[in-house]
Amino acid sequence: MQELRNTSEAEIKTWLSKQQAPAFRYKQIESWLWQHAVDDIAQMQNLPVLLREKLETDFYLDAIEAIKINASNDGSIKVAFSLADDTYIEGVLIPSGKRITACISTQVGCRLGCKFCATGGMGFTRNLHIGEIYLQAWKLNELSKAHYDRHLSNIVVMGMGEPLDNFENTVSALRKIIDENGMGMSPRRITLSTASLAPNIKKLADSGLNIQLSVSLHAADNELRSRLMPINNKYDLQVLAESLQYYHQKTKKRISYEYILFNEVNDSVSHAAQLAEFVKITPCKINLIEYNAVKESGFEKSNEKNTQKFIRHLERKNIVVQLRNSRGDDVNAGCGQLANKF
Ligand code: SF4
Repeated sequence: MQELRNTSEAEIKTWLSKQQAPAFRYKQIESWLWQHAVDDIAQMQNLPVLLREKLETDFYLDAIEAIKINASNDGSIKVAFSLADDTYIEGVLIPSGKRITACISTQVGCRLGCKFCATGGMGFTRNLHIGEIYLQAWKLNELSKAHYDRHLSNIVVMGMGEPLDNFENTVSALRKIIDENGMGMSPRRITLSTASLAPNIKKLADSGLNIQLSVSLHAADNELRSRLMPINNKYDLQVLAESLQYYHQKTKKRISYEYILFNEVNDSVSHAAQLAEFVKITPCKINLIEYNAVKESGFEKSNEKNTQKFIRHLERKNIVVQLRNSRGDDVNAGCGQLANKF
């Protein structure tokens, strides 16, 4: 038995020809999988009963279920999804002006172990498969229609896990989200955030997906960044810079940086100067983020004075910078902070 959404087009077509089914049946199955996102093969009503029964014998579908939905006072909605093996992931809906952005996950846990992150503290359980990534976007879109009466406008791949550490499944799921036979979302409205798996940033550039790239930077000094994000020991800032230049050359996209301001760790003017120097490598914008404190992490949110000085320094260097509040603070909307409560 094989999970059907995780089965390639070629494999499904081979299976159909073995059943001596006409080729157009593939389009019907594809539509049920991605345009209707059915949970059960029995729902594929326009397939002949015999073919459907054979399909059910050889394949199954993993559903994901929203088991907890927390609405925040700021309008964002955090969702805990349970998976077929009783593990949990999280998704968030964030309304902002005309936009409704869904944040989706790519792994249960994460193996990169960033020191300030609740997901990193959970360790790694497994990669999500293509259907599990796709269905989060699908279900969050349904929720968006129900709660805000609007479709999703944007997707950020920024939830639990490092998307480029689950490269193939993430890219395949995003292809389906973009595909007109899937959710039909413009790649311009999709942002993938990476802690900087440099070789896979180059692979993403070569994939032709042409989505927006965001880098969780948090320090522009190797010694400090390695302390905050151990992945920097493997791919340091110079290697990261080369991969980002490659991404920009290939896609012509501006690179976004996420930089969480931690009190007296990375929030001084000299840290801002290092950051301004690093980001010169390509056109960019910087999202400074107020820390959504994780209890045991030992990090605190930067104070107002340091935050403003930091911003002013970057602005004086003519860098596009935006300060982001941690949306959904009261519903644990930081990375990994809902799911690891189960
Ligand atoms: S910040 Fe992202 S990459 Fe780092 S541990 Fe958390 S989920 Fe993993």
